[in-house]
Amino acid sequence: MFCQNCGVEAPTKYVAFYQNIGALVMRFSRSMEGHLCKSCIHRTFWSYTGITLLVGWLGMISIVLAPFFVLNNVVRYLLCLSMPAVPLGAMPPTLTEADVTRLEPHMQQFFERLDGGEDLEQVAQDTALRANASPGQVMLLFRAILESQKEE
Ligand SMILES: [Zn+2]
Repeated sequence: MFCQNCGVEAPTKYVAFYQNIGALVMRFSRSMEGHLCKSCIHRTFWSYTGITLLVGWLGMISIVLAPFFVLNNVVRYLLCLSMPAVPLGAMPPTLTEADVTRLEPHMQQFFERLDGGEDLEQVAQDTALRANASPGQVMLLFRAILESQKEE
């Protein structure tokens, strides 16, 4: 198991947190969804919920929506309180140039399998095994590739 947000190998749980920023006639929202480690769940919950409580309800739609966002976040968070913490000393993975070189030949197949609807965690694990890397490193590279595509 590894965290889909920071990549650390630790127990994870599926969560979906929402944040809303109301601005009278407009609103800006974002969400964080996926299997996350306890540290990321904790951090995301407090930042998303705090911002929503502060400025989430300013606006026509927002004032209706914000309480649902906060309620969802609180319920999700409470359900996670019993989960095991990130093991002491567990660090998010890092990517060196050598890791990237080793992983690169496998990434084509990685994306093909994702397109085929396979489970992200499973595909990441298989790819890591073949490339002699950790699943967290596969995820790190995967996210880096997605980010670079967004910029184009
Ligand atoms: Zn995490």
